[in-house]
Amino acid sequence: MLATQEYVERKFNEFNRLCFDGKLKPLPIRLSHARTFLGQLSYKRTRKWLGSCQFTDFVLKISVQTDLPEQELEDTILHEMIHYYILSNQMHDTSAHGEIFTRMMNDLNRRYGRHITVSRRRTAEEMERDVRIRQHLVCEVRFKDGRTGIMIAAHTRLAQLWDAIKRVPEVSDSRWYVSTDPFFNRFPRALTPKVYKISEADLEEHLKGATRL
Ligand SMILES: [Zn+2]
Repeated sequence: MLATQEYVERKFNEFNRLCFDGKLKPLPIRLSHARTFLGQLSYKRTRKWLGSCQFTDFVLKISVQTDLPEQELEDTILHEMIHYYILSNQMHDTSAHGEIFTRMMNDLNRRYGRHITVSRRRTAEEMERDVRIRQHLVCEVRFKDGRTGIMIAAHTRLAQLWDAIKRVPEVSDSRWYVSTDPFFNRFPRALTPKVYKISEADLEEHLKGATRL
């Protein structure tokens, strides 16, 4: 199912009562069309003196880009609520899904028969933090209507995708690059043609050091 504003608000209140003793304050809830996350808790981090930070301005975002089984949608909301509990209590975990997060997640899974995970869920913030150097086969895709996009090929599928993208009628031009820019870590690697929309500015910035194939 796809989330609605009303649904997320209702689930938030329900889970707040059931799993968090009603201790979470209401927060703005927004639906998002992002493809890069299912759920996300955005917030402001203000650095205070002596290196500590204060977390404020929380917004819960749920993507309506992917049709999910209801239980998975609920687990996505719960996942973000755990982040919200930790950060709104100004607790500092060992990492984004560190010891505190894992303990709370396991506890909720056990007590309420949930299946909250961290594996499928990568918040935008985690992606920004993902700076591993990996080699990406990046196809810059230009559409006839002026839009731009990229496709990251699975290494085993380069030859097939190279041909396949040229046969997509809406595509006017495709160019391939090898890049190690961590920006590309966030995109899934395509086995069949799958293009992600991206701004001209991002494209230019992140293909700057790339090698044309
Ligand atoms: Zn998370």
